[in-house]
Amino acid sequence: MLEIDGSRGEGGGQILRTSLALSAIAQIPIRLYNIRAGRPRPGLQKQHLASVLAAGSICNAEVAGAAIGSREVIFTPGEIQGGDYYFSISSAGSCMLVLQTVLMPLVLAKTPSRIVLEGGTHNPFAPPSDFLNACYLPLLKQMGASVELNLERYGFYPAGGGRCVVNVHPAMEGLRPMEIMDRGKLHMQRVIALVANLSDSIALRELEEALRVLQWSKKLGSRSEVESVGAGNVVFIECQFENATELVTGFGEMRKPAEVVARGAARKMQKYLQCDAPIGLHLADQLLLPLALAGGGRIRCQGLTEHTTTNIGTIQNFLPVAIETSEQVDGTYVINVTS
Ligand code: ATP
Repeated sequence: MLEIDGSRGEGGGQILRTSLALSAIAQIPIRLYNIRAGRPRPGLQKQHLASVLAAGSICNAEVAGAAIGSREVIFTPGEIQGGDYYFSISSAGSCMLVLQTVLMPLVLAKTPSRIVLEGGTHNPFAPPSDFLNACYLPLLKQMGASVELNLERYGFYPAGGGRCVVNVHPAMEGLRPMEIMDRGKLHMQRVIALVANLSDSIALRELEEALRVLQWSKKLGSRSEVESVGAGNVVFIECQFENATELVTGFGEMRKPAEVVARGAARKMQKYLQCDAPIGLHLADQLLLPLALAGGGRIRCQGLTEHTTTNIGTIQNFLPVAIETSEQVDGTYVINVTS
């Protein structure tokens, strides 16, 4: 049994999610301890518990310690089974992070899967479904796995209640290595502001401010009202290049002016545009798992977060791959995966 210390690096939920995915794929039983020791409320919270149970159900695992607040889980995987799955988080916990836990195992299953997820679809500190569709899934497709994610209802913090349906067509011949070192030509850029059960003026103000900061034409902005059980507001800024896409997000919050939300997102996009790396900060940590499973690949990214370095350490506990990072003279980083 592999022992995984959840307090390592940034000590967050990613160690848990990556370990569960790799335990199922590599068929290695694990004991995870000190789960989320680096977080203010350590142990399994609803979203993490949902991830443990979801991982357990796709591979018929024996699971001990699956309870709210638990800091230790023993997970003994069985064979991964494609099929129909329904995972729900009663709170607004991110169902995108539950998906992050089960997606790679199901991509490597022998048969297709259809996953229905309910909970938060647009949460701070998690990839919104739009990010997965714009940035992550197109690259996964390039690596040999076709995954369609359809958002049926938005779920914002704190009410949740979102729903999406994901169809996974497995990579029958395994994942292929991928190399992305340059952006290529700019294909599209836009700003989208969404409100659910809130005034449209919020979205309008966000668009104006984001476009002003970025000095982009008004034609590049659009706004809509979307359906959700609770109130919510999000602004997306997207730049699609030939070889990769970046999508940054700003979430509306009570007592946070719309202009501040939009400025925060616009500054994130400015930072990305100022460097010329194709892969943004979040996409870098999310691509590590498919690259390691492909047994190779090379990406150039905007920077190296503690999240990324922690994820590298976790992956290397399971897979015989070397993952090297090197800073370039322009401050970007190259991540090189070899087996
Ligand atoms: P916790 O212990 O609270 O669960 P965590 O370590 O699991 O924390 P984060 O570090 O916040 O959670 O990251 C979770 C995942 O969500 C990472 O893969 C990260 O890249 C991704 N992520 C976070 N924010 C965004 C965003 N705005 N856009 C895309 N992906 C994001």
